[in-house]
Amino acid sequence: MSNEFSRLSPLMGALLAAGLLAGCSGSPEQSADYLISSQQIYTGNGTQPMAGVILVKDGKIVDVLPEAPKNLRVAKHIDANNLVVAPGFIDPHTHACNDFDKGQPNLNANYLTQGVTTVFCGNDGGGDVEVGATFDLYEKQGIGSNVALYVGHGAVRSEVMGRENRKASAAELEQMKALVEKAMHEGALGLSTGLYYVPGNYADTAEVVALAKVAAQFGGVYDSHIRDESSYHIGLIAAVQEVLDIARDAEIPVHLAHLKALGVDVWGESQTIIKMVDDAHAKGLHVTADQYPWKASGTSVAGALMPRWALAGTEEEYHARLKDPAQLPGIKVEMQDNLRRRGGADSLLISDPTSGELRGKTLAQVATERGVDPIDAALQIILAGNARVASFNMSEQDIEALVQQDWVVTSSDGSPGHPRKYASFPKKYQDFVQNKPLLTLGEFVLRSSSKTADIFGLDNRGKLQAGYAADLVLFDANKYAPRADYMHPEVLSEGVQWLFVNGVAAIEEGKLTGELAGQALRKKP
Ligand SMILES: [Zn+2]
Repeated sequence: MSNEFSRLSPLMGALLAAGLLAGCSGSPEQSADYLISSQQIYTGNGTQPMAGVILVKDGKIVDVLPEAPKNLRVAKHIDANNLVVAPGFIDPHTHACNDFDKGQPNLNANYLTQGVTTVFCGNDGGGDVEVGATFDLYEKQGIGSNVALYVGHGAVRSEVMGRENRKASAAELEQMKALVEKAMHEGALGLSTGLYYVPGNYADTAEVVALAKVAAQFGGVYDSHIRDESSYHIGLIAAVQEVLDIARDAEIPVHLAHLKALGVDVWGESQTIIKMVDDAHAKGLHVTADQYPWKASGTSVAGALMPRWALAGTEEEYHARLKDPAQLPGIKVEMQDNLRRRGGADSLLISDPTSGELRGKTLAQVATERGVDPIDAALQIILAGNARVASFNMSEQDIEALVQQDWVVTSSDGSPGHPRKYASFPKKYQDFVQNKPLLTLGEFVLRSSSKTADIFGLDNRGKLQAGYAADLVLFDANKYAPRADYMHPEVLSEGVQWLFVNGVAAIEEGKLTGELAGQALRKKP
């Protein structure tokens, strides 16, 4: 495929051949692996496109120019004049690494086909405390996209004190700080928490501040699945306030993960949150968020309905509580209220690929089929091993208000059984650039690439600029589209014609190449 591309004028060619131009430029002939030409290049610097060419060589962007240099030798010219060219998208909230831990290479095809070249893992307080070893493993086995990692507060807390529902002792807090420090040395992006989940939920704000301060010393970011996205206990607004307090007290940039107003009790509160964040910005705090463009969140039957206290300890201990006649009635009362909060039994769609004949049914349908009430049906499902659900609990008004904020970037929060894992970026494009244009194409690109790289301090990523890593997406603006939906959550998205990961084509003319060009992105302290 050495398809010579030459723009030499006859005179220049003659002069070059004679060696007469050699002294003028230092290099008589420039070479590149790829020359990409397009009328619609979004560089990530601002929201307006430019016409021009991009030169890629040895994994890097060599230059972005209004036209091809005269004395250029390229291996491959891509005429992308009918395509949008943009920095490869960056997804700051995924669970993709659950697919990387199998001791074998992983193409991460469901992200590549969305135009995503970098995924973050270790969100929600999860992941492995051994960040360095995890990076090493992914490098050794090979990976289709780049990956960056958080150190998860829940993982750190479990390592030190298991799933115990109590305050950490001073000694335990020191151990946790040491684990965070080690992970930051090994290149973690920052500290993630899942304060809604066990065991994050058992930590008070002071514990989180102490650990966030360690991450702050290394230039890390604090990313949080907040304590309450709904009205479970402290409420959505107080949970956002807790993040702002952590920003102030730990002096760390903070990021609200998959920001949403979950459930009828808190619909409309996006307006209050927008005002809180604007006020925080005015005070000089760094506050950002990500969002996925779906009305349903993804969780499990237990995650949606079970009171947190009932989940403490081992699975055996927790299941024993569900069979204990003294505790069960109280648990059922709380489950009933959680079900109301999430919109009732019709709003939980069992989408778990491993749940056999339950898949595709709502909790209401399962209850009717079994002749039991929805809470008893939920308990049966939980005791049989639990199941992933799509939980329809968000209002269009809140989603639309948040998507328009310039501090909100695109994410997927991809999890099994929810189409967001396969289609979040094209869905946001389809919903909010094409169908109801709340964003320009340039804003969509910026908030899916360079803005995200800026928030998290990714070096030389997220822009089309000389010296930056050659992560690029080339997509057809008319064909870029989601194909997955709630009933068919595992269908690859369409419309990405070319995708480069570190200068290697991961998608070539619409087809996955199988190349594993992703890198472990270790953050430099
Ligand atoms: Zn989460």
